[in-house]
Amino acid sequence: MPDNPELASEYSAFRDGLVDADFLVRSDIDGLYGRTDKFEDIIEGIDRLVVELGSDQNAKVLRFPPVMPTTVFEKTDYLASFPDLTGSIHTFTGNDKAHAQLLQVHSDGGDWTDLLDPSGEMLIPAACHPTYPLLTGTLPEGGRKLDVYGYCFRHEPSIDPTRMQAFRMHEYVYVGTPEGALAHREQWAPRGLKLLTDLGMTPEKVVANDPFFGRAGRMLAVNQRDGELKYELVVQTYPGQMTAVVSVNYHEDHFGKPFNIKSADGAVAHSSCVGFGMERIALALLATHGLDTAIWPESVRELIYP
Ligand code: ZN
Repeated sequence: MPDNPELASEYSAFRDGLVDADFLVRSDIDGLYGRTDKFEDIIEGIDRLVVELGSDQNAKVLRFPPVMPTTVFEKTDYLASFPDLTGSIHTFTGNDKAHAQLLQVHSDGGDWTDLLDPSGEMLIPAACHPTYPLLTGTLPEGGRKLDVYGYCFRHEPSIDPTRMQAFRMHEYVYVGTPEGALAHREQWAPRGLKLLTDLGMTPEKVVANDPFFGRAGRMLAVNQRDGELKYELVVQTYPGQMTAVVSVNYHEDHFGKPFNIKSADGAVAHSSCVGFGMERIALALLATHGLDTAIWPESVRELIYP
């Protein structure tokens, strides 16, 4: 989704404020930031609340690096849906002669990255994606629940700091029967709403409208909307702009089928996940309560800085 040009000055004012108040550190690229201790304290506070919400899930904790095998990426429909958001990792695989050529192109100011080759690795676009290959086979009765937390990458340079290219998502994933997948989603939407409300925000649950790519993507978008496969919990971040900070997704068999996952009854597994956008929740808090955390409402401070 492109930035709203009418809000350009709001975006840059918020971004400048976050940098000046020592929450984010800027880079030369829109959407790529360093985080300070002040910012990480907020992230940790939010994460503590997320983990408390998930404490009854009996979920297997899995942490992945921000990189996964391209073979896993190829089994998802991400390339069909969002080719423009992907991050592919390339590296140098040549010999001495090719290295000399690479250095020459570099010192001439040319595009040396043309001389790199794909490494067979992709940046992870959604935290749950690397979990599915681990579930190939038949699941136990009741399915599996997983707790995954890690960095995701989406190539969408933006001056709006709530739209980072690299950000963390904490997810609770269910894989099992269609009924179980829907129940997981229905359980988590109100939990997410409660968390945001407890943090002094006014969230709304809306049907998601993802920016699927191209002409084929318009069909996928209609399918997602009409099937109500994905909800987002949105909060106001700028005058007239709601930003999605949590998503609750029902994938049907989009992962069960390609990864050959079966529920205990032998049917193709269905899955669902809830994803907490950690940076976005932190930024929504800062947008809602201001950049001086010392004067945030006491009830919010108690939750974030217990
Ligand atoms: Zn997910």
